[in-house]
Amino acid sequence: MRPEASFMELDILSLRKEFPVLDQAVNGHPLVYFDNAATTQKPKSVIQSLVDYYSGYNANIHRGIHTLAEKATRAFEETRESARQFLNAAEREEIIFVRGVTEAVNLVASSFGKMVLRPGDEILVSGLEHHSNIVPWQLAAEALGAQLQVIPVTEEGELDLQAFEQRLSKKTRLVAVNHASNSLGTINPVKHIVERAHAFGAYVLVDGAQAAAHLDIDVRDMDCDFYCLSGHKMYGPTGVGVLYGKRSLLEKMPPYQGGGEMIKEVTFEKTTFNDLPYKFEAGTPNIADVIALNEAIRFIQRNGKAAIRHHENELLGYATTRLQKVEGVRLIGTAREKVSVQSFLLEGMHPFDVGQLLDARGIAVRTGHHCTQPLMDRFGIEGTVRASFAVYNTRDEIDRMIEALERISSLRR
Ligand code: PMP
Repeated sequence: MRPEASFMELDILSLRKEFPVLDQAVNGHPLVYFDNAATTQKPKSVIQSLVDYYSGYNANIHRGIHTLAEKATRAFEETRESARQFLNAAEREEIIFVRGVTEAVNLVASSFGKMVLRPGDEILVSGLEHHSNIVPWQLAAEALGAQLQVIPVTEEGELDLQAFEQRLSKKTRLVAVNHASNSLGTINPVKHIVERAHAFGAYVLVDGAQAAAHLDIDVRDMDCDFYCLSGHKMYGPTGVGVLYGKRSLLEKMPPYQGGGEMIKEVTFEKTTFNDLPYKFEAGTPNIADVIALNEAIRFIQRNGKAAIRHHENELLGYATTRLQKVEGVRLIGTAREKVSVQSFLLEGMHPFDVGQLLDARGIAVRTGHHCTQPLMDRFGIEGTVRASFAVYNTRDEIDRMIEALERISSLRR
């Protein structure tokens, strides 16, 4: 594990100026953006990078020998190296660009699934998973005769690790778990999960969608077999993400999609496949957004995960304490270790109505099941109101949400 870096406290007010979208009124009120777990806002450096590419060196990559193509290829491959460092992967060949976590899980479930799953095998997913880390496994299980098993969730929203242990067996071929939960914020003990799964000969995929902007990630220390993230949840553009996989596994896996870039040679009789990572990058990739993702990584590194986390933890602690004092509020998700996400309900009111009333005051939260219907079922609820904080949020904004919630609460009969 890399040591926790020491850090300087961030100057949030000047950092906010890097995010043009924050400076606007919504429904007559200054925007409060608390929907960061769905997607974060983008700093100017990320936006500028897209403009620079399209207005300065737009070209297809890898096969071109002209100057623009070489410049675009270099910038594209520089992001691969940044992503490698960001995850502390050993080799750039282990970094595959995808559209996001959803595509990454589908790639692994389809390609790796075909390679390792046999009838009677079990895939163990957690009760905290996003649909994107459930449905691809269900599809693979159905196609290959495997069974889905579930790690249950406690009342606080933590994984029940004793039950996890009991569900592991020689039949367990794969464990799929998130690093942090999008609905409840729970940080899962992924290193422990990997160690236990490996002891049973099972492979592990970690969904890092909600971890990438907040937590230190070290795939070598974690020893996971696959790790994935989505750029848009870490200050980067939509439509781009990263799949990390251990080289030894990626090399043996069959291609996920066929087409250009992923081949070495094609004849009508036989096609040979390209080397890693290109074997898994069929077709013209999302060049502009991959290049801009590098700026998102730079933004996070410039500020430092330790400083970001310190600030977000303060916000989470403050919001949680204040929310608890609002009459009728019930917190959902009170795990000991959390990223900056707080789900709640206001007794007697539908989450959707709470969300609309907050929006009328310029406060953006998410309401609903957050693509985690089985988790909502676990709590016997349809959905929650979810406030999720990023590095640019402030205590003043939390005060505004609490004030609005107090008003909404007093409207209840
Ligand atoms: N997993 C988690 C934990 C998520 O929060 C999300 C997005 N809400 C996803 C997977 C899917 O990510 P994407 O839509 O970017 O593919």
